[in-house]
Amino acid sequence: MPELPEVETIRRALEPAIRGCRIRSLEVWQPRLRYPVPPELARIITGQRITELSRRAKYLIFHLEEQNWLLVHLGMSGRLHLTDMAEARGPHDHWEIRLSHRVLRMHDPRRFSLLLKGQGNPGLHPLLASLGPEPLAPGFGGPAWVQALRARKAPVKSLLLDGRLIAGVGNIYASEALFRAGIDPRRSGNRIGATRARILGTAIRLVLKEALEAGGSTLRDYRHPNGDPGSFRVRWRVYGREGEPCPDCGETIRRIRIGQRSSFFCPSCQH
Ligand SMILES: [Zn+2]
Repeated sequence: MPELPEVETIRRALEPAIRGCRIRSLEVWQPRLRYPVPPELARIITGQRITELSRRAKYLIFHLEEQNWLLVHLGMSGRLHLTDMAEARGPHDHWEIRLSHRVLRMHDPRRFSLLLKGQGNPGLHPLLASLGPEPLAPGFGGPAWVQALRARKAPVKSLLLDGRLIAGVGNIYASEALFRAGIDPRRSGNRIGATRARILGTAIRLVLKEALEAGGSTLRDYRHPNGDPGSFRVRWRVYGREGEPCPDCGETIRRIRIGQRSSFFCPSCQH
């Protein structure tokens, strides 16, 4: 599943290539995605210039003229692919935006991706309005965040996956950040001291930035938007390493279920 660093990697790679480009047309082959693609979308965006590509959590926002924007989420297996007009359409290609010389195409075997539209402030869209702070934004992890984390009784691992508390942190990064911070994933938010909560905030930024520098974590379904198979893979310290020795202490890494999600941790380093 594309996680925040992958989405940011896509944004950084795509923006210089598409900014300023005019949309010649939109072709939708499969409108039944996570939400139906609005039927009037092609009419609204055709002829408009892409002015900016921004990101909120794992959503990409294509800003157009006249305050129009497109909201794209990659879902479980979506891949945005900037390609030549001539490239044949594959069975899981659901839509494409035609620019002057290239097309931006969505490939998504599981169809949990979305393509929606809006006008005005995208932050007010129902899917974005309740999102918590961006972990990569300057100042993340300050007193307000520490207080919000410590006000909750749920296991901290579940809290990190709650988009209202922090935007866009997925399962891998939650496990890795808790390992770096030395915090047991089962610990209640309200039983984490303020200092440890601040350390956790820093650890979250650290693991996301490391993944970003490596170009996204490159899981099975992910490709760089230029079409190259992902060539860089972050070496996780605990995620996916059940039964292996902890890289810090040698204790066996365990996997448990918290809130229906796998959590990997070292019982000796995390408490
Ligand atoms: Zn350990």
